[in-house]
Amino acid sequence: MSLTDFIRDIPDFPKPGIMFKDITPLLANPAAFQDSVRQLAGHYAATPIDAIAAAEARGFLFAAPLALEMKLPLVPLRKPGKLPHKTVSAKYDLEYGSAELQMHEDGIIKGQRVLLLDDVLATGGTMKAGCSLIEHVGGIVVGCAFLLELSFLKGRERLTGYDVFSLVTY
Ligand code: AMP
Repeated sequence: MSLTDFIRDIPDFPKPGIMFKDITPLLANPAAFQDSVRQLAGHYAATPIDAIAAAEARGFLFAAPLALEMKLPLVPLRKPGKLPHKTVSAKYDLEYGSAELQMHEDGIIKGQRVLLLDDVLATGGTMKAGCSLIEHVGGIVVGCAFLLELSFLKGRERLTGYDVFSLVTY
């Protein structure tokens, strides 16, 4: 079974010129979905990790089952105005627009080792913002994991210095 069989290309979404990688066929196939989560868990099995953090919305779809599989706390990184307690914020640029992420200031405790997860590595802006949030509160980013990576957008270069891993590279 290849994960790429469950990732669909949608041209010109959400804007002309963007090739959108649609992961809904993967979510619709329990065996493939479980396999992707197990592969991620397997990759980090020997890495000491205290928590998993992920950005909404598609990051949550993989971070929640991964957190359960690895028996680790899950910390949500959300769009502005969604988290009820005191937050820290990071602004960033996207392949198609700009955005801001927030985290509860007590989501990560100083010194905790954090694995960040998202579905797609495009320009790396989202992940870079996630790393900033973790580090702002004194956390240590032990890895940046993705289901898939669009290597031509050079997101890895933006994440220089971090351990970057993706299950599939385009
Ligand atoms: P970036 O911050 O540029 O690395 O973008 C990553 C975020 O945007 C991820 O959370 C993806 O869900 C989404 N994204 C960006 N580009 C694409 C794409 N071509 N296909 C699917 N999702 C994308």
